[in-house]
Parts: sequence; structure tokens; C-alpha cells
Amino acid sequence: PADLKPRPPVVTVMGHVDHGKTSLLDAIRHTGVTRTEAGGITQHIGASQVTINDRVITFVDTPGHEAFTAMRARGAKVTDVVVLVVAADDGVMPQTVEAINHSKAAGVPIVVAVNKCDKPEANPDRVRQELTEYGVIPEEWGGQNMFVNVSAKQGQGIDDLLETILLQADVLELKANPDTFASGYILEGKLDRGRGPVATLIVGRGPLHVGDAVVAGQSWGHVRAMLNPRGEQVTEAKPSDPVEILGLSAVPGAGDEFRVFEDDRDARDLAEQRALKARIEEQNKVKHVTLETLFDEMSQNELKELNLVVKADVQGSIEALADALGKMDQSEVRINIIHSAVGAISETDVTLAAASNAIIVGFGVRPQGKARDLAEKEKVQIKTYSIIYKAIEDIDAARIGMLKPTEEEVTTGSAEVRETFRVPKVGVVAGCMVTEGEISRDDRVRVVRDGVVIFDGVFASMRRFKDDVKSVRAGYECGLGIDKYQDIKVGDVLEAYKIVEVARTE
Ligand code: GDP
Repeated sequence: PADLKPRPPVVTVMGHVDHGKTSLLDAIRHTGVTRTEAGGITQHIGASQVTINDRVITFVDTPGHEAFTAMRARGAKVTDVVVLVVAADDGVMPQTVEAINHSKAAGVPIVVAVNKCDKPEANPDRVRQELTEYGVIPEEWGGQNMFVNVSAKQGQGIDDLLETILLQADVLELKANPDTFASGYILEGKLDRGRGPVATLIVGRGPLHVGDAVVAGQSWGHVRAMLNPRGEQVTEAKPSDPVEILGLSAVPGAGDEFRVFEDDRDARDLAEQRALKARIEEQNKVKHVTLETLFDEMSQNELKELNLVVKADVQGSIEALADALGKMDQSEVRINIIHSAVGAISETDVTLAAASNAIIVGFGVRPQGKARDLAEKEKVQIKTYSIIYKAIEDIDAARIGMLKPTEEEVTTGSAEVRETFRVPKVGVVAGCMVTEGEISRDDRVRVVRDGVVIFDGVFASMRRFKDDVKSVRAGYECGLGIDKYQDIKVGDVLEAYKIVEVARTE
């Protein structure tokens, strides 16, 4: 501990789309550039630095919680402070809430930049009021969060914001060993045609020197050259400095750890070991907790918390679940809802769950886009329910290791509605293209519109041309009727599934 010295804070900017994240970063960078008179266009190396009152702040250039949580899912903790941008004319919006929940799950403090204060309709106090509902409470109201009113457009309040970030950093007492073999995290890597593998990294312990033997993820090499965010060649990088380095054997990934070694051979060996380990891990990928394995994990790994990401078609379901969980005995395992929102299950939800070892619970909603594939890849459990008490029953049973062999839904295929017809005496029939798997006449079916389940039932008919058929495979068109449901629309997704009995694993 005696070797630790103060280091600059590393900051990520988050917030709802169009609330001014990019503008704010630009305004901040502009402040920094004029002040240091670096005489140059800032180079985009993935991070930037500004100096205020002779102190440095590092900013990660990719705003938003997606990149932030993707890094964390890989074990990289780079950000010390989150600046949450909220537009004063718009207030708290869905991605504001996501950003708060992602920051909280990572345990990173939030400084709020109330932006667009130049607008006549701006209402910064309303933003403060609205944020209290999400546990982000101004210090002047007795809370933990520092707030600054800014206008990214007019450059107002930027100095104040930077000073506030430094205050927040002081509270955190950020320190690192500045006199040891360097290590840290890769922010991004790319292959440059002229220069070979290029990586931007943030130094944790330092300093990093040109000529050092480094391992980054599965690649290694000697640092051939180093560029700072202004595009200048440097020979040394200190803790919290972002630099672009050349000389690696391959392109490392965002979130990979890097380390300096005294001996090249050690560096190469470690890189090779990691490559081998990665291949093995790929084969038996780290599994995250599931409701079925919760009890075992509690006894084996002393898992003391069950984290949930809850998505629902209506706010009422989320509240009902939170209520019921609150009444549950939590002496053995604490149940936390780390994020909840109305809407389909997204890729970001899966990333957050992977980073936080959480289970995703959906009410009346389904995974959208690539979320299901990602969940499979990341081994994140998605449990979807149509009835609340069933979810509560499952969680309660899982808690005491009594989750019975469950009936599980297996999705067999899905089809997209391309046209609809009204057939006399039969009702509405959907002209569909089967896009995945195989759909059978006796499967159950869900009608999904924009990721929300709007009907659950069985097929009334399944036809190819004029013939009734038993099943249709991906790549084929067919006509589908749904029993007791006439409101099919073009663009709906029909998800076919079966219910099978699964025994508890292990
Ligand atoms: P992002 O999506 O969060 O990165 O938002 P942008 O930085 O792209 O900003 C979205 C829009 O808001 C742009 O048209 C900006 O010009 C505008 N904007 C950003 N900051 C301010 C501000 O302080 N005042 C005003 N009036 N407009 C702003």
C-alpha cells in the first residue's frame, strides 16, 4: 500500500440517445485542447485526456452502457466514474434508467450532467426530482450524487463538471502503483494495414515503456511505439493514461488484460497458455447461475445473492414481482433486481446479466434480435413466464433447492407473417415464411409483436398451397391460422414451441 500513489480518474459518459453524450465529450475535449495548446486535432485512439487545475482526467471515447457492460462482462473494470447525461428538456428516459442500473451493478459512482440547460424549456430541477425515483439523489438533498448543470452546445458548466469529476475522484481515493511492471486493460484493438495489430489500452499499474515485453489477451510482443491521445509519440505511459501501442503479435479484444513481463519468454508462454485456456473455456464455457443450480451454487460457492434482470410487457408485473420478492425470506440468499424495464429482452440485458451473474426473467416478453443467441453463447438463463405467481414459486423453490423437474418450453421454430387473408368460415390466415427451425401443426404458438407476446395458443390450420400439412421447415412458405385469434398483422412473428419435461441437472 505504501507504494500506491494517486492516479487520475477514468470516466465513461452514458445517457439516453440524443441527450448530448457526444456533444459533451466534444465540448470537454475542446476545453482540454485549447488549454494544453497541443496545437492539434485530437487523434481518435478510443480515449482522451483533459487537464484542469493541473490534474488529469481520462475519458473513454465510446459513450453508452453497452460498451461499458461488455467490457465488464469480460472482467475488465476500467471506469472509475460514470457521467450520466440527462437532457433538461426531456428528463429521465429508458436508457437513462439502463445507464443507472448498469453503473450500479458495476458499483461505479454517478456524476449527473444535466445538459441542454441553454434551452428555454429546460427544467433541471425536474431532472433532479425524477432521478430520485431511481436512487440517484443530489448531495444538496442529502443524497450521494453530485449534479452539474451544463450546456454542451454553448460550453457552459464544462469546467464545473470537470472539477466535480475530480471531487468525486478524491472521494474514491484512486491509487495505483506507478513504479512496477505495468498492467491494465485493452479498450479496443484493430488491424491496421500499414502498422499491423494496434491496441488502445488504459494503464492500471505503471509505467508502460516502449520496448516492454507485453501480453495482451492471447497476443504478445514488444511495445514498438506508443501514441498518446493527441497522436504524439511517447516513451512512457503512467497509471490511467490511455495509449495506442504497436508491436503485438495479434489483435487483442476489448476488455483483455495486458501485463508487462521481465522476460520475453514468459510473455510468449503466457500468451500461448491463454490461447490454450481460451480454447478449453470455449468448450466448457463458464456457466452463469440458473434457477435450477442456484441452491448448489449457494452451498458450494457461498453464493449469497441472486441477481435478476426483469423485463415485462407492463410495469405492473415488475412491481408485483418486486413486492412478492420483498416478502420472501432472504436470510440465505439476497434477491436483487439489478435492472427492470418494460420491453423485449435485448442483447444489452443479456450482457448485463452475464457481467453480473444474473438470471433474466421475462413476463409476456421474449428475447429480441440476437439476444437469444447471445444468451446461449454466454450461458445466461432466460426464464419467461406468463403468470407472475409461477415465477415467484420458481424463485422460492430454487432458493431452498426444491425446484422440481420443470416443464420447459423448447422453441421449435419461428415464422414471419408476410401477408394476411380473411378466409370465409375459417377466419384470418397468415401467409408466412418459416425463418427458423421447423413448425409442427401440434406445436403451441405465440404471436410476438415488437418483442412482446400478444397471444399464446394453438394452431387452427397449417397449409402449404392447398394441402393441410403436419409441419413446415425453415425456408418454406405456408399459411397458418391460429385458434381463437384473428388479429394477426404483417410483421408479427409466430413462435412455435413445445412443452417438455426436464429433470433437474445435477
Ligand atoms: P448523443 O446521442 O447522446 O450522443 O447526443 P448528441 O451529442 O448527438 O446530441 C443530440 C442533439 O442534441 C444534437 O442535435 C446536439 O446538437 C443537441 N445538443 C447536445 N447538447 C446540447 C445542449 O447543451 N444544448 C442544446 N440546445 N442542444 C444540444
